[in-house]
Amino acid sequence: MIIFKGTGVYGAVAIGKALVFKRQAAEVRRSRVEDTAAELERIEAAKALAVEQLTAIYEKAIKEVGETNAEIFEIHIMMLDDDDYNESIRSIIETQQVNAEYAVAVTSDNFADMFSSMSDAYMQARAADVKDISNRLIACLTDSTASASSDDDKMIVCADDLAPSETVTLDKDKVLAFVTAFGSSNSHTAILARNMNIPAVISAGEEFLSSVEDGVMMIVDGHTGEVYIDPDEETLKRFEAKQAEDAKKSQLLQLLKGKENVTLDGTKVKIFANIGGVSGIGAVLANDAGGIGLFRSEFLYLESEDYPTEEQQFAAYKKVLESMAGKKVIIRTLDIGADKQIDYFALDKEDNPALGFRAIRICLTRPEIFRTQLRALFRASVYGDLGIMFPMITSVSEVEKCLAACDEVRSELKADGIPFNENTEIGIMIETPAAAVISDRLAPLVDFFSVGTNDLTQYTLACDRQNAKLEAFVDTHHEAVLRLIEMSAKNAHANGAWIGICGELAADTTLTEAFLRMGIDVLSFSPPFVLPLREKVRSLDLR
Ligand code: PEP
Ligand code: MG
Repeated sequence: MIIFKGTGVYGAVAIGKALVFKRQAAEVRRSRVEDTAAELERIEAAKALAVEQLTAIYEKAIKEVGETNAEIFEIHIMMLDDDDYNESIRSIIETQQVNAEYAVAVTSDNFADMFSSMSDAYMQARAADVKDISNRLIACLTDSTASASSDDDKMIVCADDLAPSETVTLDKDKVLAFVTAFGSSNSHTAILARNMNIPAVISAGEEFLSSVEDGVMMIVDGHTGEVYIDPDEETLKRFEAKQAEDAKKSQLLQLLKGKENVTLDGTKVKIFANIGGVSGIGAVLANDAGGIGLFRSEFLYLESEDYPTEEQQFAAYKKVLESMAGKKVIIRTLDIGADKQIDYFALDKEDNPALGFRAIRICLTRPEIFRTQLRALFRASVYGDLGIMFPMITSVSEVEKCLAACDEVRSELKADGIPFNENTEIGIMIETPAAAVISDRLAPLVDFFSVGTNDLTQYTLACDRQNAKLEAFVDTHHEAVLRLIEMSAKNAHANGAWIGICGELAADTTLTEAFLRMGIDVLSFSPPFVLPLREKVRSLDLR
């Protein structure tokens, strides 16, 4: 058994056989040709075929992953028609008297190098696109295509990386999961995987591909990013049990739906769910969550090619609020930086990104981005019960600046006669030790606190949450973290604010009693944990 650890892109466990993705990138040979006109004709025919293929992919993608995600294929069609690209191919064929495939391959390398060397991160990312369209063009010239097809049952597709066009053309009915050796969590491929609901692990490491072969048994844990090749009996049993546990949770779902989150002695707690985008609402409702405790709005930005406009954001927030039909929806303002990087923000590379330029620090430094989001949020506030929450707060002055930005936006909207809900609750995340320690000073400024235990644990224990090597040093029940939460709860209540926990720890049933005794008002986490938590709450007696 060999174990790899990558990044889980879509959480679920898959057990099945491997299918190594074969990209028959035709080996391109340089050959001398006499009839260059014939080569130019071949290029034209191949281009027409490539456009036909891409149009079909584009249409399929619109249906499966929506228009925004499908746009990349429209861009590919446009790139195939780019004058500079075509002129380069033509000139190489004519001046060097070479075959069309070779001219495309050279042009592809030259353009990819040119894009890679640009300082703009968005343009750098185009290098992968130019390679993608060139490979397609070469395949059309030589009639070879990439394929992951198999006559077998569903398989786990294993690849070095998957281009967006390859991901979307995978036959969903034949793909159990996919694992890539490389890739980043904000790549198109990762975004598409999430939207296609395919369990996926990316960035499993260079060694991964040399260790896997067709037909070998595999386990992919999309929650943890673990990949097992040729698992032993015991591991197989463990993951089969994990799958069975999932099935059990579904049964719980049926039994506990519609019941109250109340302890035996009558203490009530609100159980909400966290989402990363509009597509998460279905799971929130299916799991009977009482609201949304954390909408990680940065996923709107991560899934976008460019800064989402006020209108795009407004449409997403409105949809979530309308779908939740008056139940509370807490939308956190943009929290990028650290592990969540977005090319078009063109942020500098940092030595310590977790301690770097992220979240509210970016918003307060780039007020236009902040203002656009706040306008979209306040405009959407009339469609439900919205709470706006600011991440990574460390000081009173940051909160004051956030509140001032809200005031400004409210005044603008008022002046323009645009309606918004005056009673929109404003809160902050308690996810730095600094915020917890001065929570007595912060609480009078806001309506609520929400404790981000993922970051609070990272910063309190000085353990980078991205660093797998530190797992042994991370005591999630560490007294220091629990004391900071308790201190924040006391200070919130003493100042008339409510307090929730929206980090992963909120779903830890071994801490539910402690959290309720601290007076935590809301627990919020991934939708599948809602009903198990309800069961736990209903079994507790705090007398
Ligand atoms: C947290 O830090 O606990 C949190 C909820 O925010 P995120 O995981 O998105 O950083
Ligand atoms: Mg956080």
